Amino acid sequence: MKQDPHVVIVGAGFGGLEAAQRLSKAPVRITLIDKHNYHLFQPLLYQVAIAGLVPSQIAYPVRTIFRRQANLEFRLGEVTHIDFDAQFIQLDGSVIAYDTLILAVGGRTDFFGMNSLQEHSLQLKDVESAVDTRNHLLKMFELASREVDAQKRRELLTFTVVGGGPTGVETAGALAELINLVMVKDYPSLDLKEVRVIQLEAADHLMESFPEKLRKTTVDLLRKKNVEVVLNTKVVDFNGRKITLGNGDSIDTRTMIWTAGVRAEKVTDTLAAEKGRGGRMIVQPTLQHPDHPQVYVIGDAAFLVDENGQPLPMLATVAQQQARHAAGNIRRGLDGRAPEPFTYKDPGLLATIGRNAAVARLWGISFSGWPAWLIWVGLHVYRLIGFRNRLVVILNWAWDYFFYESQVRLITKE
Ligand SMILES: Cc1cc2nc3c(=O)[nH]c(=O)nc-3n(C[C@H](O)[C@H](O)[C@H](O)COP(=O)(O)OP(=O)(O)OC[C@H]3O[C@@H](n4cnc5c(N)ncnc54)[C@H](O)[C@@H]3O)c2cc1C
Repeated sequence: MKQDPHVVIVGAGFGGLEAAQRLSKAPVRITLIDKHNYHLFQPLLYQVAIAGLVPSQIAYPVRTIFRRQANLEFRLGEVTHIDFDAQFIQLDGSVIAYDTLILAVGGRTDFFGMNSLQEHSLQLKDVESAVDTRNHLLKMFELASREVDAQKRRELLTFTVVGGGPTGVETAGALAELINLVMVKDYPSLDLKEVRVIQLEAADHLMESFPEKLRKTTVDLLRKKNVEVVLNTKVVDFNGRKITLGNGDSIDTRTMIWTAGVRAEKVTDTLAAEKGRGGRMIVQPTLQHPDHPQVYVIGDAAFLVDENGQPLPMLATVAQQQARHAAGNIRRGLDGRAPEPFTYKDPGLLATIGRNAAVARLWGISFSGWPAWLIWVGLHVYRLIGFRNRLVVILNWAWDYFFYESQVRLITKE
């Protein structure tokens, strides 16, 4: 008996998950592969870093998600090589052949070749890096609480966030709130005047993709929360104790959270493909590999420009829309129809800068403050996978909101 075509999807992130779900009724056998056994809701990773949520509240086991999908099998493992000509992938010593491949491996932090930054800074890209960041931040307070030397104490209590995109801004705002509303209670001897949260950005504005008015609002909201916003300033070195800036100035600090760059995941480095900015694989408008039409690349790993010649941003919404489109093109192919080009429909922009504070551009309107914050909360809870996670997160946030607390102030490893 002839078997259904085999679709291999690498990556159970936003793109891979959506593609697998969209192919649930198609006459195909799906193998979904990921190096983690869970899907991670990355937009809330910063909440793990600032001790607001635990990882299990923003991650969900892939096998549970697909329990009822009969045409899908999940494989845990890291894909290390793909042979586009012979149509197979290699993972942890085994080989899996495919008829169609969807590559949805996402991105990783880009340090633009600056090794000292990579070695000493904290990141927000996966569960491990977010937990490391939380442990580090909390430890700085412990060390500061017993440090008698004022200069050393200030160094321990200076926190820098590099990169003024939504991730950096959300982290800086939430960190300032954690310090001003929660840590002051745990460390009654803490002098808030000694604490600094610094947001560094190389451009002359924050929030590149947002309209001018909201960029300014973001700066105002951060400053209101005592975040020092430093624009037009590049970081050139960090040795773990001192940040050196492009203008020759320096900042004494033990903490630098780097959110300034993302590039395609490392497996894409080994693949035969033309690359765009950030090592992302250039795809046809149909999302297919230019030389291998049976290979679709979607999400952060793919490079495609919009009708204005601008690269599509590395966003969950792009990955999900591309996933739906790639699944549609695969179904078209099964019916003998030609694939169609992808167009991104921008659903708007949203970022939070702490309690009651957010900026939004939705339905063509720019607004900020409490209404934007409420939409942000609702949307993020809604987009989490699993009713239990939604319930726990909403209870957690409500508790923190009313009692000025944060749930997870645990240092779990040295
Ligand atoms: C801190 C942070 C905040 C963000 N905030 C927002 C936001 O507010 N709104 C928004 O729209 N976007 C946001 N993003 C961006 C968004 O998360 C990404 O654009 C989106 O995750 C991309 O989806 P993807 O499917 O391409 O990759 P991912 O969702 O990253 O999934 C890739 C998957 O591939 C797996 N994988 C990678 N390499 C291999 C391999 N070799 N073998 C097997 N498996 C592999 C990974 O484990 C992962 O599960 C944020 C990102 C971060 C890091």
